[in-house]
Amino acid sequence: MLFSELPIDHRIVKNLSTAQLSDLTDIQAQAIPHALLNKDILAASKTGSGKTLAFVVPMVNRLLTQRALSKADPRALILAPTRELAKQVYGVVRQIVANTTLQANLIVGGENYNDQAKLLRKNPHIIVGTAGRIADHLNDKQLFLHGLELLILDEADRMLELGFVEQLAIIHSQADHRKRQTMMFSATIEQAQIKEMTTVLLKSPQKISVDASN
Ligand code: ADP
Ligand code: MG
Repeated sequence: MLFSELPIDHRIVKNLSTAQLSDLTDIQAQAIPHALLNKDILAASKTGSGKTLAFVVPMVNRLLTQRALSKADPRALILAPTRELAKQVYGVVRQIVANTTLQANLIVGGENYNDQAKLLRKNPHIIVGTAGRIADHLNDKQLFLHGLELLILDEADRMLELGFVEQLAIIHSQADHRKRQTMMFSATIEQAQIKEMTTVLLKSPQKISVDASN
């Protein structure tokens, strides 16, 4: 399947094509059509299979085609287990939102806290970050998630291994809009901890597994 065959905004297809991306990988072909229907997704596939675009493409399409629930709050939040992974995902987001009005920011630990608070005051539509730093800004009331339309957990298994359960619970409880779409991506979905998290975060998720490692 080709990205140009998906029912998505043409600017996304153009940005993909600029990055020399034309054919969907297996996980993208299985996840994106469901995600475009605003469904919650629980997806597992091995490292290197293209999970990032499997959530970034439908996320950006939803932001470009549906009206924002809030002017000030971010519309989409992508959480990654480490700052390095968050930076990689942020790079992909930047590519896909090129030539649109969507603004994205990276909010991670290790960066100056006040500088990050300043970025949040610019009301970015999309935040890519690590759970610890995001939870800190929530606790300090520098960030509100009541208008959040998309919550995405990348490498959810590693996030749980690294002990971010409490931060995820804080984020989930503040991003409580009933229209919220949630997507969880990981290399495995067999761990008991993942299953427990899934029942808390996801509503009747579409489960997708392509060559998942266990
Ligand atoms: P994962 O998160 O599953 O480990 P990534 O999203 O990081 O995988 O993608 C791995 C690599 O595959 C990246 O270099 C990315 O640019 C490339 N890639 C992703 N989707 C495609 C595609 N549809 N066609 C060609 N390359 C792709
Ligand atoms: Mg990945």
